[in-house]
Amino acid sequence: MTVSTVARETAPRLEEVAPATMRAWVLKNPNELELATKPAPRPGPAEVLVRIDAVAICATDLEVIGEGPPALVNGGLPFNQGFTPGHEYMGTVAALGPNVDEYQVGDRVTVEIHAGCGRCKRCREGMYTACHNYGANYPGADKGHRANGFTTNGGFAQYAVNHINTLVRVPDSMTDEEAALVVTAGTSMYGFTELGGLLAGESVVVIGPGPIGLLGAATAKALGANPVILTGTRKDRLAIGAKLGADHTIDSTAEDPVAAVMRLTSKGADYVLDCAGTEESVNQAIRMTNRGGKICLAAFPHGLVKIDLAYAVQNNIYLYGIRGEGRSATHRALALMAAGRFDAKLIHTHTFALADLPEALRHARDRVDGAIKVILKPQQ
Ligand SMILES: [Zn+2]
Ligand SMILES: [Zn+2]
Repeated sequence: MTVSTVARETAPRLEEVAPATMRAWVLKNPNELELATKPAPRPGPAEVLVRIDAVAICATDLEVIGEGPPALVNGGLPFNQGFTPGHEYMGTVAALGPNVDEYQVGDRVTVEIHAGCGRCKRCREGMYTACHNYGANYPGADKGHRANGFTTNGGFAQYAVNHINTLVRVPDSMTDEEAALVVTAGTSMYGFTELGGLLAGESVVVIGPGPIGLLGAATAKALGANPVILTGTRKDRLAIGAKLGADHTIDSTAEDPVAAVMRLTSKGADYVLDCAGTEESVNQAIRMTNRGGKICLAAFPHGLVKIDLAYAVQNNIYLYGIRGEGRSATHRALALMAAGRFDAKLIHTHTFALADLPEALRHARDRVDGAIKVILKPQQ
């Protein structure tokens, strides 16, 4: 019996649709993963079991697997705890927890990473990616927090459990691979949401054509920003950015990006989304933002960053740090994608089966064959 044939009939028993065990990658020591057979998880109240149909690899997965943070499992590093990483996935609802009627078995869904605890001040404000109880989900400190792939088991597996608040319905017109990219677009959307969200007719610069930056340029254009300027050092990535909606692309190895933005906007950008997170990029962002403009810092820098704070203060420039995809931004990103406002599939470059995760990670890490987004198909 397949999942789809039992959809929308009288609620099937869990055992009819969900197997007792599943294949899942487990993190051992740093950079050591093992494909194991694990008990398939069981959904609790307000949760569903998701059969994972596609999962994208993110640079943050490489950090979790190699170094640990920002993963936090049982209050510590994620190593040797039976933890399964992977956080950018989509799939099919395979079983419902008690009293769940918001979804049906067979529904196609993509997921947000963070469920949050639902009880802290920030969660109540919709800022569940900044939950005060991050990682508090284990015996003795259980406040119900979930961030799959960071504090709870994630998507490099055949199944995962998700809180219903983390699900976004996927239209039939959208492929599994495209739906797995929704959370990436949702992160850009959250950045623009925190900047105020009123981008129509405003100038936007995106620094760094990684996945979030590329979909950031796409999202800004879809929200009406004009012009959208993308800066970076890789010509092939900038070319994809132009296809996704950037009005201008600046090769910062050939031209000073601050001078280029001043040339294209006269007084500097109204909004800058920094997706590089380096000392150079943050200072470029400050210098290219117009007086009273806003900067979103969307990348995790490594170590301390020295910035021209005096220039920022004297020019009334606002700095916003964001993490993840809060305030239901993923729903809005999916709406733009479903409406065909940009083609996120342009950043999907490689596909592998579940068993080939090490090879998939190598492609993502070393950008083999121009890899941008590498996707695993766990049911293959
Ligand atoms: Zn990610
Ligand atoms: Zn919370």
